[in-house]
Amino acid sequence: MNRINSLVLLALALLAPFLLAGCTSTPPRAEAGLHLYALDCGSIEVLDVSVFHPGIDKGKPKLLTNSCYLIVHPKGTLLWDAGLPDALVKTPEGMLVYEIFRFKVSHPLGPQLQQIGYPAETIQYLGISHLHGDHVGNVNLLPKATLLMQKEEYAAGFGAEPGKYGFDPSGYGSLRGNPVQQLQGDHDVFGDGTVVIKRTLGHTPGHQALFVKLRHSGNILLSGDLVHFTDNWTHKRVPGFNFDQAQSIKTMNEVAQFLKDNHAQLWIQHDLEQNTSIKHAPAYYD
Ligand SMILES: [Zn+2]
Repeated sequence: MNRINSLVLLALALLAPFLLAGCTSTPPRAEAGLHLYALDCGSIEVLDVSVFHPGIDKGKPKLLTNSCYLIVHPKGTLLWDAGLPDALVKTPEGMLVYEIFRFKVSHPLGPQLQQIGYPAETIQYLGISHLHGDHVGNVNLLPKATLLMQKEEYAAGFGAEPGKYGFDPSGYGSLRGNPVQQLQGDHDVFGDGTVVIKRTLGHTPGHQALFVKLRHSGNILLSGDLVHFTDNWTHKRVPGFNFDQAQSIKTMNEVAQFLKDNHAQLWIQHDLEQNTSIKHAPAYYD
């Protein structure tokens, strides 16, 4: 074989994987690394924002976003929070709850997951920050996913008096059928420290947040309802309806230190202004 033929063969051998990849009709998958997709899981019109910081801005309205996230790791997938129920898309005027929150959905979660190539029923893990209605709306789309939840939250949600904690089991009853891993602290989901559930008690008995270490986008903590908007984070204010006020403040201070130590950003899931600066699926962070 002459030198030119050898070079052509060598070039073909090196290019083969790329040529083959180019021939497949499936969309590019994210198995190569860790990916975070932000999803639109509805909005909440708050008719009187003072419920989030008693005594301040009484009677003033505020618009909040409602966020869910899909984490794609080489070892599996995790949905973080399940938003408001997709069925609300049929009620464009929204649903009034406790006469103070108006819940709306304009982009159902199921089709968003479908569109990015991860249909709900294929997702392995379901991480729920807490059991309030705006975080569990679509848990029924993932009947086989392993539920990752602090044991106190599970006990409160499935115990004798869920209403005492602001939980409505009619919204998350299907979770009884899911495999469950009850947690008693932080939990490293895939065992390599890149996706870690953080025990952040206070808002509810077993509230948790999600820490994600991305290669290019850096370290991010998804807040759950540790805090609802930036102003409350800045002033460390706690909603009147939190389960444990003192614990909420303690947790916020611990999280502030954690963010500093880990050079991490806090993504506040209900903060409208912050959410408009975050790119949403099908775009992703890696
Ligand atoms: Zn919430």
